[in-house]
Amino acid sequence: MSDPTRPPGPKIIAVANQKGGVGKTTTTINLGAALAELNLKVLVVDLDPQGNASTGLGVEPEDRQHTTYDLLTGERELAEVVKGSDIENLSIVPANVDLSSADIELISNAKRSFLLHDALRQTAMDRFGFDYVLIDCPPSLNLLTVNAMVAAHSVLIPLQSEFFALEGLSQLMLTLREIRLSANPDLRIEGVVLTMFDRRNNLSQQVEADARANLGEVVFDTVIPRNVRLSEAPSFALPVLQYDGQSKGAQAYRALAAELIRKNQKIAA
Ligand code: ADP
Ligand code: MG
Repeated sequence: MSDPTRPPGPKIIAVANQKGGVGKTTTTINLGAALAELNLKVLVVDLDPQGNASTGLGVEPEDRQHTTYDLLTGERELAEVVKGSDIENLSIVPANVDLSSADIELISNAKRSFLLHDALRQTAMDRFGFDYVLIDCPPSLNLLTVNAMVAAHSVLIPLQSEFFALEGLSQLMLTLREIRLSANPDLRIEGVVLTMFDRRNNLSQQVEADARANLGEVVFDTVIPRNVRLSEAPSFALPVLQYDGQSKGAQAYRALAAELIRKNQKIAA
């Protein structure tokens, strides 16, 4: 059942934060799986040379013949790089280490910031009928992340519930503002989601209070708890919803998907 309130074409969301290890990939995979579980058609674009989203969704390195790198360089078209996954309604454009040289190789290309934007607007996109595209960004504000933000309608920011979490955000917000001024004036903030949250930990609670006080409505009500099932799932090449559907982590990502859909319906209304 696709969302009737959204304009045609998928909603494209960049999952970004230049800090590593804050939960970008975990959020991309599991939010994607939770949306897919609601019968929405989801495409995950792996934009990190580490290829963790690809691994986490069960795409073995030898099955990554056509990748995000080929899409960005124009060697392959969208229809050639989209792969189905074992999860119903969930497809992926996988990545591998090839992507690590893209930053430098593409620098002389006049359209370098628009490569992903243009690729995701090829006519094949209509045929796939995706409802959501989630872009898993690398831990950097490099050309790859810029491509994601130029291609996207919005940015979803995972924020790890730990000290200094908010400090990195000002740099991210600055980049967002630059992209709005230069290439993508309509880029929105989808929301900030607190990850690896531990209710018993005072620091987690402090980060949450600070985030809500400073960022207000932008912060999702849903908080993702620290949950060992979430960290185990990737080694089984599965989203947590498939690995342990009753776990706290699975429930949290289902709640995040529901909140995201609600928010988008409100905007469209
Ligand atoms: P990023 O993509 O931002 O680098 P990851 O999503 O890869 O971050 O998460 C970093 C590490 O933390 C991974 O090992 C992941 O399994 C683990 N992790 C992420 N979110 C949680 C969570 N809510 N609870 C427990 N472990 C988590
Ligand atoms: Mg990652």
